[in-house]
Amino acid sequence: MTGKNLPIPKSAVSGISWPALPGPAGAAMLAMQFQLEQSQWWPPERLVQEQFRQLEILLLHAYRAVPFYQKRFRDIGYAPGAVSPEWFARLPILRREDIQSRRADLLSRGVPPDHGRLIWHHTSGSTGRPIETVTTQIGQFFWYALTLRDHLWHRRDLSGKLAAIRTTVQDGMAQGWGPSTDAAFRTGPCVTLNIRADIDRQMKWLQEQRPDYLLSHPSNIQALAQHCIAARIALPELQEVRTFGETVAPELRAACRTAWDVPVTDSYSAEEVGYIALQCPEHEHYHVQSENLLVEILNDRDQPCAPGEIGRVAITTLHNFAMPLIRYEILDYAEVGEPCPCGRGLPVLKRVMGRRRNLVMLPNGTRHWPSFPEERWGHIAPIRQIQLVQGEPDHILARLVADRPLSPEEQQQLIAVLRDCLGYPFRIGFQYLDQIPRGANFKYEDFVSELPEN
Ligand SMILES: [Zn+2]
Repeated sequence: MTGKNLPIPKSAVSGISWPALPGPAGAAMLAMQFQLEQSQWWPPERLVQEQFRQLEILLLHAYRAVPFYQKRFRDIGYAPGAVSPEWFARLPILRREDIQSRRADLLSRGVPPDHGRLIWHHTSGSTGRPIETVTTQIGQFFWYALTLRDHLWHRRDLSGKLAAIRTTVQDGMAQGWGPSTDAAFRTGPCVTLNIRADIDRQMKWLQEQRPDYLLSHPSNIQALAQHCIAARIALPELQEVRTFGETVAPELRAACRTAWDVPVTDSYSAEEVGYIALQCPEHEHYHVQSENLLVEILNDRDQPCAPGEIGRVAITTLHNFAMPLIRYEILDYAEVGEPCPCGRGLPVLKRVMGRRRNLVMLPNGTRHWPSFPEERWGHIAPIRQIQLVQGEPDHILARLVADRPLSPEEQQQLIAVLRDCLGYPFRIGFQYLDQIPRGANFKYEDFVSELPEN
């Protein structure tokens, strides 16, 4: 909580404004921030040590109260109080299918009463059956605390106006930014618009609202920024764009600079576990939120990835005693980063890549992350957007949003570029659309594999 712009907390005692005397909820939130401010600077070894101290308590609870884990722990020789990182690494991965098929066995038979009421989350995911998870008010408190950490890291002016365009909101206005901030601080208003509004309507709304901060999905921000660049529309009050829920491409950061001269701050979260990593205050990569989660990035042999390697994300929640998720494979891929020059000991994720179905598979069975940035194809024809769909091992369907159909020559040029980008001479077909359909959760994906093993 260092920083010259730190706001004065809200006081709960009449006649006392400064220094403030917060009420119980504000005091708890500030006490948490006080600890997070210190732990972020700890060396990685100390963070792991404290994580395992907390993990011991959670694992003992899981062993005693969660049927699903009893056998799993016994199978690898569980000795309460003597859990080592080596032992932990031998625990089988918890898969999405386990949560779908054995949900009842994953529920705790004895949630500590002081963890508050249960809070359910239904996660639609990009494909397949939804999953249902549950946490407690304590679990939710950590979500709020990390939201506030994000505000403080990025030195937001809490008196500003926040505009959120997202899936889960009704159109409207609230007096504060929400429970994460309102317990401890006075904030400006928060205005919300459902993301199903088309871009023209969103633009009109933003011009009326004149927000200081804008929160939305990267693909939606990209569309807004392009619209503003083309129509020369400024949003003069805007100070920062905040994103979540999809991969942020470098082009998005560039577009927001061009359109509004503002930075983009991204966060990596999932409904069932909360914030996983937040963008560093000084760099564009992410810091794992180790105080609340143990995050592993695993290679194909389930070994931890080294910096520069990309692997599957597995998460252990440290404070959810209603449905502990232990080594839960969330089906995302991320790249491990080097330690951050900012000095924070929280581990670094260089990039968050997306899901397995966003990987291209070559006919020889190898997979990689496809990259086909606009700078490679933007000059060929008036194409606004491309989504590639791999429906067969050697065939890619290019779905285009374009001002007009491409000429045969332009198609040939685009095919050559896409083959080069994808690293294989795929057969490529074209489909013209007014807009690219979005998946569940309104997420947008540049590349989707429909091959059966996904
Ligand atoms: Zn950093």
